[in-house]
Order: sequence, then C-alpha cells, then structure tokens
Amino acid sequence: MTTFAQLGLPYPLVHTLSGAGVTEPFPIQAAVIPDALAGRDISGRAPTGSGKTLAFGLPLLVRVSRAKPGRPRALILAPTRELAEQISAELAPLATPMARQVTAIYGGVAYGPQKDALRRGVDVLVATPGRLEDLIAQGTLALDEVEIVVIDEADRMADMGFLPAVRRIVGATCQQRQTMMFSATLDSEAAALSHRYQRNAVLHEVAAIGAQTGQVQHVFWRVDEHDRVEHVAGLIERNGRAIAFTRTRRRADRLAKQLGLLGISSVALHGGRTQAQRTKALAAFASGRVQAMVATDVAARGIHIEAVAMVIQVDLAADAKSYLHRAGRTARAGADGTVVSLIAGSEEREVLRMQKQLQMRTPIVAPTRELPVRKGSSSSVRTEVETKGVAPQPQTAEEQSLYVSNLPWEVTAHELGELFSQYGKVNQTTIVTHRNGRSRGFGFVNMHALAAPKAIDGLHGAHLNGRPLTVRPARQVA
Ligand code: ADP
Ligand code: MG
Repeated sequence: MTTFAQLGLPYPLVHTLSGAGVTEPFPIQAAVIPDALAGRDISGRAPTGSGKTLAFGLPLLVRVSRAKPGRPRALILAPTRELAEQISAELAPLATPMARQVTAIYGGVAYGPQKDALRRGVDVLVATPGRLEDLIAQGTLALDEVEIVVIDEADRMADMGFLPAVRRIVGATCQQRQTMMFSATLDSEAAALSHRYQRNAVLHEVAAIGAQTGQVQHVFWRVDEHDRVEHVAGLIERNGRAIAFTRTRRRADRLAKQLGLLGISSVALHGGRTQAQRTKALAAFASGRVQAMVATDVAARGIHIEAVAMVIQVDLAADAKSYLHRAGRTARAGADGTVVSLIAGSEEREVLRMQKQLQMRTPIVAPTRELPVRKGSSSSVRTEVETKGVAPQPQTAEEQSLYVSNLPWEVTAHELGELFSQYGKVNQTTIVTHRNGRSRGFGFVNMHALAAPKAIDGLHGAHLNGRPLTVRPARQVA
C-alpha cells in the first residue's frame, strides 16, 4: 500500500492527515495526487464518497502560493453553498501547516466577513459562482492571479444554469493555470468544458467497486401514493438516520411536518429556506439531534454527513444522474448504506428506463418489514445484542420493546442494558451497527411492560455523553 508520503506529499501535511485518522490514500487519491503535484490538468471521475476532495485539495495546498489582498491564488468552484462550506472546512485545517488560508464565499449570508477575509488575503478561495461574480463586480477581488482552478461536480457546473458564469469566471483566471475537474458523473457536457479549459488533461477514473467506496444496496418499493409518509417513517424507525429526497420544496416541508406527527424528528433543507435555516438544519442532522433530513436535490451533490444509514428517494429522481448523486449521500468512505426508492404505479416505466441507464436490474417489490439482505453479505444490518435471562424471542404480553435513538456511537448494548435496568428487568438490548461494527446510533431495549413507562419517563431526553436520548415504545409494524 502506498502512503501519502510516497505520493509526494510533504511531512507537515502527512502528519496533520494522520492526526485526523487519514493514513491510507483512497484509490482516486493515489491516482491523482502525483499528477496534480506535477501541475498537470486533470479530469477525475470516481464514485460518490470516494475522497475526491482530498485528491485535488492536498496537491493544491502544496502548490498554491501566498496571495496578495484581493488576489486569490487558487479557486475551487462548487454548485451549492453547503458544498462550498464543506470543502473549505475540510481543507482549512490542512492549510494551516502549509501556512495557507482557505475561505469559502457563497450567497445568502452577509458580505462583511467575506469581504474582510478577502482584503486580508485568501490563498485558496472556495466559491459558488453567484456570490463570486457579485464580489468581483463590487471590486472586492480579482481572479487574474489564480493559478489553480478546480471545478468540483464539474458536470453540474457545466449544465445550462451554471455554464455562462463558469465560463466568465475561468476566463478571468491566469492563462498559465492548472485546471482540474471532478465528479462521480463526468459526462459529455463536462467533457466540453474540459476541452475548452484544460490542456493535455489526464483522465483518472476509479470504478465503483472497491473497499473504499462502501457497499450500497438499492431497493425499489411499489407503494400507494398516500402511504408514502408511513413508509418513510417506518424505514427511518427501523433502519436509522436517513436523508429523504423530494421533488419540490413544498413537498419537503410537508414531509418534514408529517414525519414529526409520526414521532420522527426531522429538518428540511431546500433552496426556499434562508441560509441561516439551511445551516441550522444541516447542523441538526449532522450532529444527530434529529433522525432525518428531508431535502430537495440541493443536498444531492457532494455533501458528506457521517453515518447516514439510508437514502430514501420519496419522489423519483429527475434522471439517472440525480438518482446516483442522491444515493451517494450514503455508503460513503467505506461505510454501508441502503437506498430505498418509493415508486407509485404510474412511475414504473420511468424507473425501468432509469435502471437501464444505470445498468441496474433491481425488481420493484412490495414493501417488506426488513430490508432485503444484500448478496454476498451475511446480513443487511448487524446488531450487537445482549440477552439477559430469556432467549431472544418475540415480545410476550409482559414485555415491551422500547426504541432508543440518538445514542452516542461508543455506547455498547451492555451499557444500554445497565442504564435501563435501573427501572426494571431488561430482557434484551440491541444496538444496530454498520457492518464495520460502528453503531448506527439506535437500538431497542426489551423490558418488562410495567417497567417500560418508568424507563421512558426517566430516560427520554436524558443526556448520555452530551446527547439527549430518544426513548419511546417501538412501533408495531405489520
Ligand atoms: P467525494 O468528493 O468523492 O464524494 P469526499 O471527498 O467528500 O468524497 O470524501 C468522503 C469522506 O471520506 C470524507 O469524510 C473524507 O474526509 C473521507 N476521506 C477521504 N479520503 C480519506 C482517506 N484516505 N482515508 C480516510 N477517510 C478519507
Ligand atoms: Mg465531492
């Protein structure tokens, strides 16, 4: 196995990476980093969650020079505010040992802090096109000293909505620059962009299969239009944290509200909300304070959130590409994940067409209580179970099963059992884990029916390692 040092990265960077637990390059990183360090133009295609950000970000941080005020040296373009912020946040701690400064600029927030940062000098600017052009027009910055350009989600940036701005922006950068483009779905539109703005570009492609890309299972359920919400709620309750995608902003808001009525905590993320609301929603979901995030496709690209067990495509994706990027919010960086699409009868033909494009052949089936087991694995969900006294068995009249969520990752089934046994006899505790053994943050406690209400009273909302627990009777789903 090659190391980051062997790929040519300097010690301070390698050291900071390993401090963050990043010790082995993912395949796309091993492929891209040497060429990028050599200053070559690169087109990179690798699956969602395969580590493209560091593939371009690390060599960029090595090569970028110090900027003068208002004259950034490197520019990373991204399609959404959340993604710009995320890229900046991922690279900032790595820029520090290289004595470089990274800042993100995007719309919907105050100009002041962005202008102040630019005036102080930003070496690496991460930006969405709108606010970037806005600040250029205001004279806050100029791009003529930009020597490295990265276009992340390049096929999205090459589509009609963004292309004119992207052209103006890249056209305003230094002629002698390094240009890199990345996406999980580089298509002909991205190729046109490459043709126009790259020179002798090397194409690095990493295929979908590999330990680093995780294991994703695709499921298609045939549902009745008015049962969708119930299915979404049941799926989240049984399988853990999920992002649910809807077609429109209104449907996102409505679903979030309906889930709340069914006892599932959720937030909505879409372009109709203020940036403050969007940021708050994302933080609430990422930190595990709520079980679900309901979003439009604004959250489909690039966003990385830890431990998303499942993506639910509540409304059918607009096209195959959108399906793939939505799906890519789970099973990232080696984790497992499930993608469940809820399909109404009238949508079946469209689904089959989309599956064909994606070279998938997954039957559309009636909803099941458990998600099917993926081929080649022993179970789709592994659980850590501790049984006391009685053998695992269906609930008896005297037994009540409690659903416990928002568990800290490090809590074991044994510890969970101890916690609940203050209130009465615990028969069995279960923590649902990823295949890699990491907790999915929820589980079940089966205890004496008379003690269960006391346990809910005592433990619902109680803090465990700083997180408020959710405890309630497990729903009986037929
Ligand atoms: P992509 O852009 O390909 O969709 P990201 O760059 O967002 O994927 O990376 C997904 C996650 O993987 C991030 O949390 C990132 O920190 C993590 N990651 C990237 N490279 C490595 C690595 N070599 N080892 C461990 N984790 C990594
Ligand atoms: Mg990315």
